[in-house]
Amino acid sequence: MEDWREARTLEELYELIKGCRSCPLAETRTNLVLGSGDDNAEIMFVGEAPGYHEDRQGLPFVGPAGQFLDQLLRSIGLKRSQVYIANTLKCRPPENRDPLPEELAACTPYLFKQIEIIRPRIICTLGNHATKTLLRTSAGISQLHGKLIRKGGLAYVPLFHPAAALHKPPLKAVLIEDFQRLGEHLEAERVRWRNEERPVEEVPAEEEGQPEQMGLF
Ligand code: SF4
Repeated sequence: MEDWREARTLEELYELIKGCRSCPLAETRTNLVLGSGDDNAEIMFVGEAPGYHEDRQGLPFVGPAGQFLDQLLRSIGLKRSQVYIANTLKCRPPENRDPLPEELAACTPYLFKQIEIIRPRIICTLGNHATKTLLRTSAGISQLHGKLIRKGGLAYVPLFHPAAALHKPPLKAVLIEDFQRLGEHLEAERVRWRNEERPVEEVPAEEEGQPEQMGLF
């Protein structure tokens, strides 16, 4: 198999795209960071892009934001190994600058493929970039956080990015509270799916045009 679109597992997908040079970020990355966690996770988290430590280690959310995410997961009885964590971009933008529209356009098909393979009950978009990229909405994270939103056959819960929350104590309190709501949303989705086959979800089609560049919140 040579075409990444035909990958049936995340391991196959990684093997097929690890040498990707579809955008200029290939020139500056150390490692392509596809994601980590359970291929069959009920919850998938999508952040913005790898940072310094992620680029070095080839894993998502390994710094202080990752430790805070682990703490938030424990608050609803989950471990990192039970969820899946990815980003909209698989390679680190220099100096952690915002993703460019052309980079998102080149990279998000891989994210949609990951969603297709994992078929999570809930996708948590972390911060404005991931929320606007996946939900194609002009509404900001301040309006949408903690709500369950259905779109394209998938269920999303936008959340503030843990890195942003670590720098702003009021946001940290909101994120802690939103995780309790996420736990409730997950229970409701489990009930909804009970006695049903895990549905084959429709993955959001890419729309015309480029995603706009966005601030963190
Ligand atoms: S950011 Fe995405 S599209 Fe760009 S080189 Fe990395 S994997 Fe390829």
